[in-house]
Amino acid sequence: MANNGRLDVLNPATGERIEEIEITSRENIDRAAENAKQGFRDWRGYAGLDRAEVFHEISRSLRDAADELAQIMTREGGKPFIENHDEVTWTAACFDYYGEIARDNVGYLPAPIEPQQLALVVKEPVGTVACIVPWNYPLLLAGWKVAPALAAGNAVILKPSEETPLATRRMAELMEGLPEGLLQVVYGGGQVGEMLVRHPGVDMVAFTGSQETGRKVGVAAAERLIPANLELGGKDPFIICDDVDVEVAAQGAVWAACLNAGQVCTSPERFYVEKGVADAFVEASREFVESLKVGDPLDRSTDIGPMVNAKGREKVERHVAEALERGASLVTGGERFGERGFFYRPTVLVGVEPSMRVMREETFGPVLPIVEVSSLDEAIEQANSVPYGLGANVYTRDFEKMLRCMREIRAGTVWINDPLTDNDAAPFGGQKGSGIGRELGREGLEAFQESKHVHIDPKVEKKEWWYPYGRGDEAGQRTM
Ligand code: NAD
Repeated sequence: MANNGRLDVLNPATGERIEEIEITSRENIDRAAENAKQGFRDWRGYAGLDRAEVFHEISRSLRDAADELAQIMTREGGKPFIENHDEVTWTAACFDYYGEIARDNVGYLPAPIEPQQLALVVKEPVGTVACIVPWNYPLLLAGWKVAPALAAGNAVILKPSEETPLATRRMAELMEGLPEGLLQVVYGGGQVGEMLVRHPGVDMVAFTGSQETGRKVGVAAAERLIPANLELGGKDPFIICDDVDVEVAAQGAVWAACLNAGQVCTSPERFYVEKGVADAFVEASREFVESLKVGDPLDRSTDIGPMVNAKGREKVERHVAEALERGASLVTGGERFGERGFFYRPTVLVGVEPSMRVMREETFGPVLPIVEVSSLDEAIEQANSVPYGLGANVYTRDFEKMLRCMREIRAGTVWINDPLTDNDAAPFGGQKGSGIGRELGREGLEAFQESKHVHIDPKVEKKEWWYPYGRGDEAGQRTM
């Protein structure tokens, strides 16, 4: 929350202020852009192996500080400690991965035009990259950008969300092995983000956040003709076929929908269940949801913590209220929890319609709207019916159905029988309105590289296709 040049960082479990930090001024952004240039030049002097060593050191420091970082993340973001601890180790793994693959990805040799020549495609850094991230996975989403951007040789100016600046500040302190200026963190909300995207010292922007903000960032980057990688919101479908173990599918569905109180970009938010197992699935989901512990996110046995802020919870309440007014039924949940903080009980809805907001806009809360479908065709058609295409989940034992879902669902990731498992080595991102570009894997490194074609002819001689044209057939002259 911005307040007279300062940010109030609140604890979402209590609503209390944890700390007040200074919003980065325009002058300090100018300074960061200058420092980044020096950091960039110094980083050029590191061989691939040396960069990898720095990355492995960062990874070790993050792992050693996992408890401390997870505490900070839990206090400022409200995600349960266990999930934050996992997040730190995934972030560390991302640095290990990019430290190594960057050594192996500096370009390639295409066939030259003439046999004595050498053609090279050299992968180069873009320059200074502004990385702008949201609050729901503050370190991981920063790591998915910062690690490949630095590995590719760029300098980075990182802007964490105004909701969760503290863990990022600590993470940056732990990266002391990097040359000065190579990674800098600036603080503030949308204004600071916009200043960065429009800053002449910034050569590229890598953004993760909502579709609405992503569109603004994309337009501002287009005006400056700088590349923008956009990782945006979703409305992921979750299909349950009638050949599965309903208990397992329901537990997988509830876990995926309620992870981080439903505030994951790939949270499944629409459930399509084949008729034969629909009633059993609803019942198993209700039972599992009601067994979960909602409460203090610092308590290691808590399953679901608070939502990040009052605004996020109000949006969930609006979606659920509109669905109920228009004829949906509540199976469980649908209300706030506790006296303070921003808690919302995990919620199961049935009787929902495609036109309800809970079925077409990103809800970003712990809500499972369940729809009975008569066939896989209907489930796939419904899955593809919204303008988002980030992820999709399917539960089936039938290989033919797996292949159909893999081919026909329009999404950047399709998870079959293992919801939400990310892989550093495979690309992540959205189709349709869920984004432009990819993170992770080789694509995630290439996003931060320019390609330069270098053409070398070792022979210095006149070429027969140069001037003069069409004036007879004397040696060295070209005729048609
Ligand atoms: P948000 O769009 O409100 O903010 C994201 C970041 O952009 C923040 O750091 C914010 O300060 C900054 N920002 C705001 N206005 C800006 C502007 N005009 N110019 C530049 N920067 C600006 O999103 P949020 O509420 O922090 O995060 C939740 C959203 O992020 C959800 O929509 C979620 O689906 C999405 N998300 C997507 C992914 C993905 O990988 N696709 C991952 C996590 C979250």
